[in-house]
Amino acid sequence: MRATMMYGAGDVRIETVADARLIETTDALVRVTRAAICGSDLWPYKTMEHSETGRGMGHEAIGIVEAIGADVRSVKVGDVVIMPFAYSDGTCLFCRAALQTSCIHGGFFGNGQVDGAQADAVRVPQADGTLFVLPVGIDNALIPSLLTLADVMGTGHHAALAAKVGPGKIAAVVGDGAVGLCGVIAARRLGAERIILLGRHPDRIALAIKFGATDIVSERGDEAIERVRELTGGFGAHSVLECVGLDESERTAFSIARPGGAVGRVGVPQDETMPASRPVFYSNVTVGGGPAPTRAYIPELLPDVLAGRIEPGRVFDKVVSLEQVPDGYRAMNERAAIKVLIEF
Ligand SMILES: [Zn+2]
Repeated sequence: MRATMMYGAGDVRIETVADARLIETTDALVRVTRAAICGSDLWPYKTMEHSETGRGMGHEAIGIVEAIGADVRSVKVGDVVIMPFAYSDGTCLFCRAALQTSCIHGGFFGNGQVDGAQADAVRVPQADGTLFVLPVGIDNALIPSLLTLADVMGTGHHAALAAKVGPGKIAAVVGDGAVGLCGVIAARRLGAERIILLGRHPDRIALAIKFGATDIVSERGDEAIERVRELTGGFGAHSVLECVGLDESERTAFSIARPGGAVGRVGVPQDETMPASRPVFYSNVTVGGGPAPTRAYIPELLPDVLAGRIEPGRVFDKVVSLEQVPDGYRAMNERAAIKVLIEF
């Protein structure tokens, strides 16, 4: 089968590899029909040290179950399934607490241990806890939006929950990538009265406004902080969604939260330390978030996608074949694309 392999910064290749196969009795084998390139794939694309063996990439997919292990009960051959970016058993203490990204038998796809989903097929560990069976056909027009439930829409929702978005509140979203845009959808869905997007790219801003953003701040650093304060009567936002993970974006996020407010972080932090510790302390700002348990959110978000009330699939603005995936990485890295959909 073909798979996307990364050998170092900027070095993505489509190669023929050994076919994915069942190993554990709790595995399922999924033939991938749609996958995606994630903003988080761009971190190794920018920084990965050269590797002789390469790393199988990809952690978002929809596909068809081709085989199941002897102990799999909740999915069957032929099912159309979503594969969230983390696998999880669905039964441990953390899964039962809806924190599947901390599953004691869990892990992450495409991280070098379990193979990636930017491939013809993928082995899914803990299939019963991981896979979600979809009630639609594989060519349904909603498939791109459903694919976002594997990661970006669930991650935006997680940011909004951690930021305590609710009716009447002012939300601010730091970052205009696919997760930030889904954060706008999530903030509106949870009832935010105003949604301030901090972003600079005209096409992304236009989409954010369609998704429900009411104000746009394109300044950076201290000017951005000042502008958000102006827009919020001098106090800042109740709920801030940090969807980037860089030192500057985190500093901005923490600085625009009003006293007693909350910041939900879903941008993978690129530094060990958190900036703005002292202002966060003196403002009694709650800081939450982390890797989103997107598996937990599929049942909640699915009805809104199926009914067309939210359209997160609009973040896909470039479609490639598997052979064209290296071009997809380039386009996202150069910000020529918001998010790339891979069609098989
Ligand atoms: Zn678990």
